[in-house]
Amino acid sequence: MDGSPVVGGGILLFISGSGWVKNPAAMKGLEQQVAVVTGGSRGIGRAVALRLAEAGADVAVVARSVEACAATVEGVRNLGRRAWAYAADVSQAASVEAAAEAILREAGRVDILVNNAGITRDGLLIRMSEADWDAVLDTNLKGAFLFTRAFARSMLKQRAGRIINISSVIGLIGNAGQTNYAASKAGLIGFTKSCAREFASRGVTVNAVAPGFIETDMTAVLNEEQRQAILARVPMGCLGRPEDVAHVVWFLALPESRYITGQVLTVDGGLVM
Ligand code: NAP
Repeated sequence: MDGSPVVGGGILLFISGSGWVKNPAAMKGLEQQVAVVTGGSRGIGRAVALRLAEAGADVAVVARSVEACAATVEGVRNLGRRAWAYAADVSQAASVEAAAEAILREAGRVDILVNNAGITRDGLLIRMSEADWDAVLDTNLKGAFLFTRAFARSMLKQRAGRIINISSVIGLIGNAGQTNYAASKAGLIGFTKSCAREFASRGVTVNAVAPGFIETDMTAVLNEEQRQAILARVPMGCLGRPEDVAHVVWFLALPESRYITGQVLTVDGGLVM
């Protein structure tokens, strides 16, 4: 890059022919940090893991099997960062505690926790089984509680940390056929705000990202009619990409985002406004 370097707002800036340009190296922002991404084997979780790695973070990838994490781990390593795969069922306390212990032992520290693992078990309320209710609440909400509890102590001790919970616009506006999912995602928002209040004085921020409809395995099950109905409600007229969500997670994880906590950021092409 041409131009002479100057320090501005903590970011190295360069003066080029066209004005102020950020130094791409300085924009990465997450060097020497360790991130944990639950549900990192595919979809939004994989995109988040790769985005954080691109920004300089080492990444511990969590899913129900180590094999499922392989592609994400390879992607992180190809970006020159350290990566580990952990098998854990986020809904099971013993499984989460064992994984968290191993992560802290092997990675040495955790700076960023992304509670992303999630499932759907859709059905109208009058026909919803207790098993489908419990599976969704246990994975989407209790899973975030268990992982947050597992790493909160070390983040509070180091007086720095970023916890980012992947909620959903469904938690904000509801959806017929998704009472369990909407309850879990709305619950995550209350959980986020309460943790944010508990941890704020120690430099640990807690925020939620609420994606709209994003192209992943989760939305691949929609039929054409359902897709068209969704698109009709999205002002941008298209579904989002996992990278759209990953970008916002990266932003919230940055040290410069230190004064943002307890917020819900929607990434939904304008669906909720
Ligand atoms: P996805 O492609 O179905 O991926 C789900 C991820 O969660 C997988 O990595 C899966 O890992 C993991 N997972 C599921 N249950 C788990 C458990 N008990 N323990 C550990 N890992 C578990 O879903 P996605 O679309 O990327 O969604 C990611 C998150 O974004 C979810 O919380 C979802 O609710 C939220 N979200 C998605 C959308 C969307 O339109 N796609 C919109 C709003 C919010 P394995 O199966 O490999 O174990």
